Amino acid sequence: MSTEKNVQELLDLLSAKGNDTYFGEDVSVLEHCLQCAYFAEQSQASPSTIAAALLHDIGHILHDLPEDHTRQGKDGWHEEIGAKYLSQWFDEAVTEPVRLHVAAKRYLCATDPSYITKLSDASIESMQVQGGIMSRDEASVFAALPNATHAVQLRRWDEEAKIVDLKVPGLQHYLPILRAALKGAAADRVQ
Ligand code: FE
Repeated sequence: MSTEKNVQELLDLLSAKGNDTYFGEDVSVLEHCLQCAYFAEQSQASPSTIAAALLHDIGHILHDLPEDHTRQGKDGWHEEIGAKYLSQWFDEAVTEPVRLHVAAKRYLCATDPSYITKLSDASIESMQVQGGIMSRDEASVFAALPNATHAVQLRRWDEEAKIVDLKVPGLQHYLPILRAALKGAAADRVQ
């Protein structure tokens, strides 16, 4: 199967289903993902990290729980669903920041006193079903993971990427970046 075709299909999936509301936020899932990728690109992140930023919430589109599932005490595990799905085409440089972006929120709450003030009410609420603020031991284990730094970076953009009516590039802008981040693509291996 052509990976080229898969990359376009990924963008089509985001485009078709991303306009749903993003529970408790003022932007849609698609707007949120585009803003997150925009902040990553503005920070001169690698193609893999930009791809992770764009695709980090794809699990929200893939699971079939109601949008307010965290309010009902259910964790949709969207980070695990998304990382597993993306692993068909991307390696750990993309899938691990995606898989760890929820843990990164719990980590940042434990280690950066100013971070929690940046969280939306929905993000604070969902953290209760996601395991709550990390203990000191959990934070040390997390910090030692190979992609922890990228996950933390992604998480900070994630918090910013909720700005109503922010003008950012559309999905097609990211096609070459996603191609460069595919498994086996050479462009990203130096970073
Ligand atoms: Fe997000």
